[in-house]
Amino acid sequence: MEKAEIGLIGLAVMGSNLALNIAEKGNRIAVFNRTPEKTDTFVVEAGALREHIVPTKSLEEFVAAIRPPRPVIIMVKAGEPVDELIATLRNHLSAGDIIIDAGNANFRDTIRRFEGLKDSGLTFIGMGVSGGEEGARHGPSIMVGGTEASYKRVEKVLTSISAKFKGEDCCAWLGENGAGHFVKTIHNGIEYADMQMIAEIYGILRDGLGLSAKECSDIFGKWNKSRLESYLIEISAAVLKASDPITGKPMVDLIVDRAGQKGTGKWSAIEAQNMGVPATAIEAAVAARSLSSFKIQREAAEKILGLPGEGAIKPASRDAFIADLEMALLAGKIGAYAQGFAVMAEASKEFGWSLPMPDIAKIWRAGCIIRSQFLDDITSAFRAMPDASNLIITPAFSAMVKETDGALRRVVAAAVTAGLPVPALASALGYFDSYRRGRGTANLIQAQRDFFGAHGFDRIDGVDKHHGPWGSGL
Ligand code: NAP
Repeated sequence: MEKAEIGLIGLAVMGSNLALNIAEKGNRIAVFNRTPEKTDTFVVEAGALREHIVPTKSLEEFVAAIRPPRPVIIMVKAGEPVDELIATLRNHLSAGDIIIDAGNANFRDTIRRFEGLKDSGLTFIGMGVSGGEEGARHGPSIMVGGTEASYKRVEKVLTSISAKFKGEDCCAWLGENGAGHFVKTIHNGIEYADMQMIAEIYGILRDGLGLSAKECSDIFGKWNKSRLESYLIEISAAVLKASDPITGKPMVDLIVDRAGQKGTGKWSAIEAQNMGVPATAIEAAVAARSLSSFKIQREAAEKILGLPGEGAIKPASRDAFIADLEMALLAGKIGAYAQGFAVMAEASKEFGWSLPMPDIAKIWRAGCIIRSQFLDDITSAFRAMPDASNLIITPAFSAMVKETDGALRRVVAAAVTAGLPVPALASALGYFDSYRRGRGTANLIQAQRDFFGAHGFDRIDGVDKHHGPWGSGL
């Protein structure tokens, strides 16, 4: 039988869709799943694509079905299962073969696995895949970390299955070892912030202006034809329009307000904190998801404390306020992306990756959950100013911040007065306000630190490590 050019292990949602995508592009692929019945079902469901698929029932059969040197994608449950599988595969694969972990791994695990396989003759690639089930099937955004030489060996098949934006592949090699999974983690952190800000704006429309789900849908639908055009705005308009087939009520009104999370948003906030780079909008979004899960406590607290503020928002002009909401969302989004890219810039230095910022924005333009027109602007901004210390000081984005932050300020003020929570939008505003202020208030913090801990401070006249005249204290 003709050998496959690539193999894939793990035929759950993501793996089976990725395998079908690979087969559809004319690549011959061997597949294996720990539970063999899933392989049988997969083959039946593959239909006409079956001719490109080699189903196998043991790892021996799987490995023998692939032409050496073998690229093997593993798409199994993240965490320990990946380590177990790698340990088993080491006994079956030969020198020159590549193991590609396409799951949502923590990049620190990816670095460890990459190092662990270094002397084995095998090569390890950590590959972030975004776009969920649909992306895996029809074109995901692919973020690759590993040696450049190993990427070159699989580049053809990966670019064949990736999403395309105006004909360009949404797939790139981003750096050594954990670079791909790190970038995927930050992608997810930005995704959390993007989703949270949309939800906050929805909250203002629903609870501040008293609009129905259908009215909110119409507004998001209109915004999807503007500079906010993005997959997340598009699906927000779609879900707000959908009705429950049982009651006929808006589906969204019947969903419990308790959001799930799998951990990648949290990882991005942790890594930002580890590196000392503020990612306040992302952190606020992660915290908001956690707070959403405190449903019982929130209901109890509402009974005890009551709802804060004025409740309704009564703007002088509703149309002008809705226009402000659109610009506020754009401004908040700029803050979240600026923070995500700043975290990646720092990680690039810390881990020696040379992450290509314009390319990262470029491969996120299609296929992934945060895909949008806006990412094209980010690519152009970083290309025009490759050494920019922050997205918001590039000419294009500083102009956008100046244009939109007034609306963000008015919206946050109106929401706060009405008692409506907008933690991510307010964080973005606080970030802009702090980042653009040359003289802040940390002078007082330094004085406090010196008072209680003799930490010293730098004086504005150039004397470093000075101590204050605090005397014996209070
Ligand atoms: P999953 O539910 O995370 O994992 C199920 C798969 O892992 C099954 O094929 C299962 O085999 C296999 N597995 C579990 N433990 C194993 C072990 N010890 N040894 C060998 N195989 C083992 O599947 P998924 O939702 O398709 O996700 C796969 C990966 O993609 C995960 O890392 C996930 O985080 C990531 N991801 C998911 C999405 C998404 O939208 N779902 C999006 C992006 C990335 P059995 O059938 O034998 O149980």
